[in-house]
Amino acid sequence: MRTRDLELLQQSFDVLIIGGGATGLGIAVDAATRGYRTALVEAGDFAQATSSRATKLVHGGVRYLASGQIHLVYEALHERAVMLRNAPHLVQALPFVLPAYKWIDLPFYGIGLKIYDLLSGQSTMGPTSFLNRKETIQRLPNIATKNLCGSIVYHDGQFDDARLALALARTAQDHGAVVLNYVRSRSFIKTGGKITGAIVQDFETGTELIVHAKTVINATGIFVDDLRSQDDPSIPRLLSVSRGTHIVVAAAVLAGETAIMVPKTPDGRVIFAIPWSGRVVIGTTDLAATTVEMEPGHQESEIEYLMETINPYLATPIHRRDILSVFSGLRPLVTGKSSKTSKLSREHHIDSSPTGLITVAGGKWTTYRRMAEDVLNFAIKGGMLPGKPCQTDAVKIHGAPTSGAPIAGPLFRYGTDAAEIERLQQSDPQFAATIDAALSFTFAEVVFAVRHEMARTLEDVLSRRMRALLVDAKAAERAAPAVARLMAKELSASPDWAQEQVAAFQTLASTFYLPK
Ligand SMILES: Cc1cc2nc3c(=O)[nH]c(=O)nc-3n(C[C@H](O)[C@H](O)[C@H](O)COP(=O)(O)OP(=O)(O)OC[C@H]3O[C@@H](n4cnc5c(N)ncnc54)[C@H](O)[C@@H]3O)c2cc1C
Repeated sequence: MRTRDLELLQQSFDVLIIGGGATGLGIAVDAATRGYRTALVEAGDFAQATSSRATKLVHGGVRYLASGQIHLVYEALHERAVMLRNAPHLVQALPFVLPAYKWIDLPFYGIGLKIYDLLSGQSTMGPTSFLNRKETIQRLPNIATKNLCGSIVYHDGQFDDARLALALARTAQDHGAVVLNYVRSRSFIKTGGKITGAIVQDFETGTELIVHAKTVINATGIFVDDLRSQDDPSIPRLLSVSRGTHIVVAAAVLAGETAIMVPKTPDGRVIFAIPWSGRVVIGTTDLAATTVEMEPGHQESEIEYLMETINPYLATPIHRRDILSVFSGLRPLVTGKSSKTSKLSREHHIDSSPTGLITVAGGKWTTYRRMAEDVLNFAIKGGMLPGKPCQTDAVKIHGAPTSGAPIAGPLFRYGTDAAEIERLQQSDPQFAATIDAALSFTFAEVVFAVRHEMARTLEDVLSRRMRALLVDAKAAERAAPAVARLMAKELSASPDWAQEQVAAFQTLASTFYLPK
């Protein structure tokens, strides 16, 4: 499949997209479903950078309401409904409790959340309501009860970011696009001063390939400025980046299926504690970052900040020893007037250079589909593509059941692909076993990831096809040797390959758990 796709890449395309995160993959789905000949290259794995490190919310953004960005909230709420409709196996509604420890907080936040619900109109995920003290404790048995008056419950969406990215890649392929991970765009090809393609390099073999395209789109997230300066070294930077860090703890910390929203942190932000993938994700920080890098790491002060902010809301506070994983991502924020990154706009930005390179940056995961639509309409308006209408409002994402309810059970996130994994589990008792006692993923999922989900490295499997690294970094590290051996067999790779993969993964995993 990969060999065939690398060959197909050497054709002429209408659209070449550089970057396989939420933004680029969304554009690939949109372009392919409009009927353009489409190619996408991703330097690493799909969603390896920012798009696998989100707080996992599909949301309008309650806090943007407070800052008066009504248009942004309204647009995102619309997109939330589209995502739920088209990817019900990866996006679900989730109740959030905003606990009130002062009576005044109930009407104060209640009005805002009622407006949030009103803005979502028909696409509401559930009504906003008030709970008294007793009802709040019933819902969240581990909530801190001292001075608790009651709470407000509202609803938003949550999702599996890396798996949605992969499902978008597969949707684009289902509609005829050529989509490849581990292929980096190295330089642009220019004819008469205009970009007409790119020279790309296959990471695995080092081979360079020429890809011709009418339109080239720079969707490289935090790296957009690198490509812009490849095109024009004198161009000013577009982005500021800020780091957001999350900690992951056991499900018992919330003891239920309801999230907590902390409406105002000491630095004027909001943070969440969210049940996700059998654990609780707590985040996020917002710290200006100076270097743009794939693995931004975290600072000790961020861990302290998250624990200090969430612990007053918990009857049993969390300690460092409870933290199963720490993950951080960099937000691509379009530089604005404020020097505080938390104040920079989350709206997206699209521009084109005199050579015709289209750059898209900013935005949110939730608005990926709208960003894609805007980018392609921008190209059409600029005469770079023939006009074709956007279809994605109604395009089902790979794995979505065509009718009826989403697939239930532990493999629900695979949607219609769950049947193949069940078949693998039944075909061999070894495949039915879990990869580690602390994790619910099975070896059948490893085989499936290699055969059908373009997984090329141990990290692809343990971090993004299954979310082992994020839910329990030490358990993922323990599982690494057995998973690597099975992958080596599936990929016809040598035992040395497996050992190298394990060593690289251990180095990475050690940055996801805290030293004792
Ligand atoms: C901490 C945090 C929490 C967030 N939480 C949420 C949330 O809960 N909900 C929400 O809606 N949004 C959230 N966001 C925002 C959302 O995650 C981002 O807006 C989105 O993921 C950005 O996607 P992207 O495709 O633009 O960038 P990326 O995901 O970074 O993708 C860019 C890709 O380009 C590739 N690339 C770079 N250079 C090249 C090259 N030369 N050739 C080929 N490929 C290249 C990179 O490898 C990378 O994979 C959050 C962001 C952060 C940082």
